[in-house]
Amino acid sequence: MTDIRSYLEEHREDMISLLRELVAVRSVQGEAEEGFPFGREPARALGIMLDRCRELGFAVENVDNYAGSADLGDSPLLGILTHLDVVPEGTGWNASPYTLREEDGKLIGRGAIDDKGPAVAALYALLAIRETGRTLKHGVRLIFGTNEENGSADLAYYRTKRELPPYVFTPDGSYPVINGEKGMLRVYFSTYWGVSVEICAGSVINAVPSLCKLVSEFDPEKRGGVMMDDKGRWSKLTTAFTEVTEFNGVSAHASTPEKGENAITKMLESGVIACEPVKELARLFPHGETDGSSCGLGFSDEISGKMTCVLSMLNTENNVLHGAIDIRFPLDRTKAEISGIICGALEGAGFTVDSCEGVEPHITDGNSDFVKALLSAYTRVTGEKGECISIGGGTYVHEIEGGVAFGAEFPGREYNMHGPEEFITADELIDDAEIMAEAISGICLA
Ligand SMILES: [Zn+2]
Repeated sequence: MTDIRSYLEEHREDMISLLRELVAVRSVQGEAEEGFPFGREPARALGIMLDRCRELGFAVENVDNYAGSADLGDSPLLGILTHLDVVPEGTGWNASPYTLREEDGKLIGRGAIDDKGPAVAALYALLAIRETGRTLKHGVRLIFGTNEENGSADLAYYRTKRELPPYVFTPDGSYPVINGEKGMLRVYFSTYWGVSVEICAGSVINAVPSLCKLVSEFDPEKRGGVMMDDKGRWSKLTTAFTEVTEFNGVSAHASTPEKGENAITKMLESGVIACEPVKELARLFPHGETDGSSCGLGFSDEISGKMTCVLSMLNTENNVLHGAIDIRFPLDRTKAEISGIICGALEGAGFTVDSCEGVEPHITDGNSDFVKALLSAYTRVTGEKGECISIGGGTYVHEIEGGVAFGAEFPGREYNMHGPEEFITADELIDDAEIMAEAISGICLA
């Protein structure tokens, strides 16, 4: 019997060329059209993948351009979930993000690690199993989504049309196995703003803001046309001017706020604006605190560690102050409990909660045969110890009971995911395929 590794090595160029074809499609979410729920390009990437799977002899299905599948064997026991949509290219690339480049063993292009490379590796894992003569007792289904980056409406739709296999993993996270994902809550609040300083800080809710800007307008025609100088004397304004004050912090993902520094809480702490809402926010969100203790939160659990609570946006508009908070809470708490506490703290401080939505934590038994099979496949190929980890972010399987993330980022390595010069190495592409083939063998061969 040819071994899996040799088969994959022999098909290294085929894998790279399929990845090149997929990367060439700018499969960023676009305008929905009849038959194209996420625009034409995500559907085009799906079409390329399904055509290739069909040519290679797998039974394929396209579920209305939301997601597609390719099967080896009948009544699949295992599902491998990947996605073919990508985030926009952004800036900072050394060459076209949509032309796969090979440099020093790296394959550089948008989607290389997230998640087109792993999708190709999953297909070749399936091929390697079949072509090396292994007969599966249970079937395997590859599922290719097209909307992971924008809310996973692909998966939600697919699940209304087809049942998922009993075991599902996604190589859209990291090794060894992610079996715990904290719960998440997004809170939007507001209050009346009567101060003549505009605040502008934070543009996305799931990031620690790196800049908090205060803008004050001084106009001789307004506000009495006077201002106080630095010696405390009032003087008459002759010309209008704008004063901008900036507070700088360090950006980080909201699930790991300890890696950043919050520019908003830095501003609150400085006391430059003296008014009730700012004082209350400074009390609820002391600079440097990242677990929401002062709001009455501050929980932790043994597996996922400390919870996180980030005041990530603060903006004024038409005499209203708007704020937003990103919370990742422990595996043993519920959405209702956390939302009761944070909403109570905000309302008690005079704010109106405009919305408070999120998802419950996700946890899969780390001692199940399924997870053990994944961990031992990882160890067999890499020689590294396999263990379950827990994260603050949510993966593609967050809503799938019993699902886990398995790869494709190796611990401690950087891939520039979502950034410029995103890559996977050609060797990792082969390693991923081999690990997945071993996992399929462990789960479906028996
Ligand atoms: Zn992804």
